Amino acid sequence: MARITLDDVTKRFGDDGDAVVAVDDVSLDIADGEFVVFVGPSGSGKSTLMRTVAGLETQSEGDVYIGDTLVNQLGPRARDIAMVFQNYALYPNMTVEENMSFGLKMSTDLSKSEIADQVASAAEMMGIGKLLDNKPGELSGGQQQRVALGRAIVRDPNVFLMDEPLSNLDAKLRASMRTEINRLQNELGVTTLYVTHDQTEAMTMGDRLVVLNFGELQQVGTPLECFYRPANRFVAGFIGSPS
Ligand code: ADP
Ligand code: MG
Repeated sequence: MARITLDDVTKRFGDDGDAVVAVDDVSLDIADGEFVVFVGPSGSGKSTLMRTVAGLETQSEGDVYIGDTLVNQLGPRARDIAMVFQNYALYPNMTVEENMSFGLKMSTDLSKSEIADQVASAAEMMGIGKLLDNKPGELSGGQQQRVALGRAIVRDPNVFLMDEPLSNLDAKLRASMRTEINRLQNELGVTTLYVTHDQTEAMTMGDRLVVLNFGELQQVGTPLECFYRPANRFVAGFIGSPS
């Protein structure tokens, strides 16, 4: 668990002259254990911001802290962050058990039995304990998503980053996975940054909502604040109450 601080973070792609400013001077303080939802139109910098926190992109300017540690120079692994993406890409030729243990085998020196214990408890938590010997192709979309989440929590990370994790699922499944993710986050108390373009997810899942447009913060507040007291026209149009 960790607090996350972004200090004037800017990320540009390309040369100075015609650079794209994907993230524009974003400052944000996310509390330990908080669940923050990021929304904004396509191209507003949500994914780039996540990737910057994860250490998959290096910001052009500004600082990223996880806990009290300045992580600008740290690679993804050292940041102890678990990520779940829309295309969660399980390894098709590995069993669920192997999919879940692979990362642990590669990046820790835990013993076989310690790894088996951690996989079993993460699988239990995700309700996939009976599927450990199955291959992903034998599972439903919802079960595969559970495996992806199980794989993310098995390492007991400090931070979850989820970038539109449910957008490939049908509406009914999305609804149950919303509840599942909130339950999991509550149980583990892990600081979570969650990107979505789904209005229901934005309004119901998080403690706070962050609204982005053209890489800039438009509003940071509770979902209700953003809905009933939008900071500007953009927020009003994007998520505000139709008045
Ligand atoms: P979102 O996730 O909100 O849709 P992105 O973070 O993917 O937005 O993109 C923000 C902006 O940065 C867009 O204009 C996009 O084209 C640009 N961008 C993202 N990644 C790259 C990249 N690797 N190279 C160049 N431009 C990029
Ligand atoms: Mg994106």
